[in-house]
Amino acid sequence: MSLTKPLRLLLLGAPGSGKGTQTSKLLAKIPTLTSISSGDLLRKEISIKSSIGKTASKYIEKGDLLPDSIILDLIYKELSDKNWLSPNATWLLDGFPRTLNQAIGLDNRLSKHNVNINLVVELDIPEDVILQRVENRWVHIPSGRVYNTQYNPPKIPGKDDITGENLSKRPDDNAQVFKQRLQKYHNEITPLKKFYENQNILHKVSGETSDIIFPKLYNLIISKFGKS
Ligand code: AMP
Repeated sequence: MSLTKPLRLLLLGAPGSGKGTQTSKLLAKIPTLTSISSGDLLRKEISIKSSIGKTASKYIEKGDLLPDSIILDLIYKELSDKNWLSPNATWLLDGFPRTLNQAIGLDNRLSKHNVNINLVVELDIPEDVILQRVENRWVHIPSGRVYNTQYNPPKIPGKDDITGENLSKRPDDNAQVFKQRLQKYHNEITPLKKFYENQNILHKVSGETSDIIFPKLYNLIISKFGKS
């Protein structure tokens, strides 16, 4: 798909709702699109044992969100490093902003460059479906590639398809921590959605599987930003 104007997209969705899967599918369809996932970024920092990684792991293991100022600085640095503050850049954010404070902080910074988020899509998936998904989820940490032992298994069990490296279970993908994350998500997301609703850029796509969700998401983007 080619776009007729720059897309600056935020995907919202409960943990385990498939934001990563939808992101990969969009990247494959829209050549100019690039993405940042705050969770992937943090897991990379943890794997290289950086100082921010050490701080992050304390929060992530408990299912808590990192303080807004830490994550805002980290993401903003990434945005500038990737040249996303340029008016022609087309990009997608996954997992950030996640609180009203983060959204306001990001909006203020993006406003200076006139590159505010111009589409927000909430992925709406039933909770029982999400819970099952999380139990079966494995990730390749260096790349962020996600597998599901049920409907998207790796070719060799426990190994990444591309590099052959080991897959890991995320420490926060267990029932107890997960329920806490889900509860936190619902608490945080309501004011965030209001914020984008007031800007008239909030949309929702519903469905049980990523194959049902993706065409809806894709068509929404085409209708607003492109031609297929
Ligand atoms: P995710 O992969 O998006 O589910 O994120 C995994 C964990 O990283 C979360 O449970 C938080 O601990 C942390 N995290 C990711 N994004 C954010 C954010 N925008 N604000 C604060 N913490 C975050």
